Amino acid sequence: MTPIPFSGSPLDRASDRRSDDAWLAAQQAAGLYLPVWQNRPLVSQDRAAFLPWRGGWADHPCVFLGLDGAQPLFAVDLPDESEPVLGDGTFQEMRACAFVLPARDTAIAGQAKALLDWHKRHGFCPNCGHATGMKDGGYRRLCPACSAEHFPRTDPVVIMLPIFGDECLIGRGPRFPPLLHSAFAGFIEPGESMEEAVRRELWEEVRLKVGAVSYHASQPWPFPSSLMLGCYAQALARDFKIDGHEIEAARWLTKDEVRARLANTIEDEMKLPATIAIAHYLIRDWAQN
Ligand SMILES: [Zn+2]
Repeated sequence: MTPIPFSGSPLDRASDRRSDDAWLAAQQAAGLYLPVWQNRPLVSQDRAAFLPWRGGWADHPCVFLGLDGAQPLFAVDLPDESEPVLGDGTFQEMRACAFVLPARDTAIAGQAKALLDWHKRHGFCPNCGHATGMKDGGYRRLCPACSAEHFPRTDPVVIMLPIFGDECLIGRGPRFPPLLHSAFAGFIEPGESMEEAVRRELWEEVRLKVGAVSYHASQPWPFPSSLMLGCYAQALARDFKIDGHEIEAARWLTKDEVRARLANTIEDEMKLPATIAIAHYLIRDWAQN
């Protein structure tokens, strides 16, 4: 089965070795570097692959992505100002990359973007305000003033498809692309289980009462650094009421209608999520069962 986009990286992250400075220095010397500029990876002109380069990037922030077989792979963050010229490559926005790059390159580039973006925004210690330094190839920052350690964040988000009998509920938020209807989603709050977040969000957004919640699949989502936890939620009744703020429209779809829409046999005012989003797989996997 093809992995959900942004997952399925083939790299060995070598998490047991990357804190060894001598080992890491040897990997850096032999490394290939994926250039990233303004959160965009460098890809070949035909967009068939990302374009790693040999070293010489010591002046720029670099993170260790992992071992591709025996080949160490890093990502380098290039200064924001003007777009660097590197061969015939172009810097492509990450979402657009996910539609065209091979699955392995999408997963690796997503890892690079999420990690470099975190470093860009976490240069100072939240404990004492002093500048911090990168450690362990980018998987830790250390404050030299107060010794606090800081680790790259991954923020859990629940994304859920309510089910009632033979129907699922989809909705659209005001900031969605035109026509798109999708599963419902929201950040998990402190002190909340995944199941509790699913129930709270569905009550807040569509006043839907939910019973059993079941986990289906997850997806790393590097915008900026979320982990999408895909769930099904058994609705206790069909009635719902949109909140008008986070959700501006919602409707139930039967399995037959979902299958027809996935096969593009219905053309109207509604679109289902694209194949780079876990919502697509939540909806598809339910409809195909
Ligand atoms: Zn500090």
